[in-house]
Amino acid sequence: MAESIGNTGTGMKLHTKILLALLIGAAAGILANTQLGGDAPLVIWVNKYLAGPIGQIFLRLLFMIVMPLVFASIALGVAGLGDLRKVGQVGGKAIGYFFGTTLLAATFGLVIVAAVKPGAGLPDEIKTELMTTYADDASSKITAQETGGFGINTFVNIVTRNPVKSAADGDMLGVIFFGLMFGAALTQLRPETAKPMIDVLQALNDVVIEIVGMAMKLAPAGVTGLIFGVTSRFGFALLEPLAGYVAVVLGALLLHVLINLSLILKFVIGINPFVFYSRIRSALITAFSTSSSSATLPTAIAVATEDLGIPPKVAGFVLPLGSTMCMNGTSIFEGITVIFLAQVFGVDLSLGGMIIVVVMSVITAIGAAGVPGGSIPLLVGILAMIGVPGEGIAIVLGVDRILDMTRTTVNVCSDLSATAFVARSERVWDASMVPAKSAATL
Ligand code: ASP
Repeated sequence: MAESIGNTGTGMKLHTKILLALLIGAAAGILANTQLGGDAPLVIWVNKYLAGPIGQIFLRLLFMIVMPLVFASIALGVAGLGDLRKVGQVGGKAIGYFFGTTLLAATFGLVIVAAVKPGAGLPDEIKTELMTTYADDASSKITAQETGGFGINTFVNIVTRNPVKSAADGDMLGVIFFGLMFGAALTQLRPETAKPMIDVLQALNDVVIEIVGMAMKLAPAGVTGLIFGVTSRFGFALLEPLAGYVAVVLGALLLHVLINLSLILKFVIGINPFVFYSRIRSALITAFSTSSSSATLPTAIAVATEDLGIPPKVAGFVLPLGSTMCMNGTSIFEGITVIFLAQVFGVDLSLGGMIIVVVMSVITAIGAAGVPGGSIPLLVGILAMIGVPGEGIAIVLGVDRILDMTRTTVNVCSDLSATAFVARSERVWDASMVPAKSAATL
């Protein structure tokens, strides 16, 4: 499996290249807009034959793998739950905690972004123009219509009539449902019968993640093209909302830890949150510097057992699961990003639309791989689902590295809190067992 979506291996780090690409593309675009005007023939030519196609190729590579990725990761996840049922209570508690806190996180992020509205200040003409420029993506139109109204049919439509058509139409909910059924059915088969299929799904999952890694190598060129397209047409108008968006994501991540997780730690798990955070700091620092929950797993296990004194039996079971399933930070990030881009493009979301965003943020956060940028392709899928053009991703991709570092730190923090929760509720650990001195070297 691609260890990391984000390493080019040689020379400058990929995320540095993407950031530079954003700056260069944005500067060139603003220059073109202010000096020549967004409608100048040269600007139109560059957008049509150069910047546009490069950006489109990058986006299409991401779109290409959304459906297989969603299907494989959901089916595998559910098939894995079958095993967890055998493990019984401990597995059930872990999964309950993952779902509960991820849902809380997504809702929390959504409330903040809906209140602050970092993307809403744009004049109406710009919104309309953005939409007309970018909304020719067929998949966004089709699914936007379907999610437009919220009623009994919203639920009926989730049960896809034809999973292949759902995949072709960008109907993520249909594909998710099919993945759920597929995984559930696998748990009913005898293990020897299910194994070949599970192996195929695992390989499919690994292959698509590898493709994401390949697509991300094109990201610097893609981001330059996409951001040039946006800024040459719209000038400075979009940069201010972008700064607001970064502040909202970082603020929501911080508040989720300081308020939500701290309250859970204090009142449900019974440990002083600040003792907890200080003991797990080497895992948090590793998460921040690698942007990968999976890469942080060994450190997280060491921290849980040595610095928190949690029995290895619990830590060794909950943390590997949590590193791919429990992503509080990612669900906050996804919810905020989708709503922010909906605000930028002037897509009005009904209450039903908002609920869909929360549900999708939770499901895709659980399905995302714990590697740098693991949630990006899934995010592109949610955007298309609610009728926001996929090009919107260009607006946020250039600033994603810092958001990825921060959300991964929150993800790992939630994994470790899940481990403490399970250990506490199984009565094999409590706060008095935390070693007096931290063994961590950091
Ligand atoms: N980088 C994140 C993690 O590993 C996943 C993501 O949100 O992209 O936890």
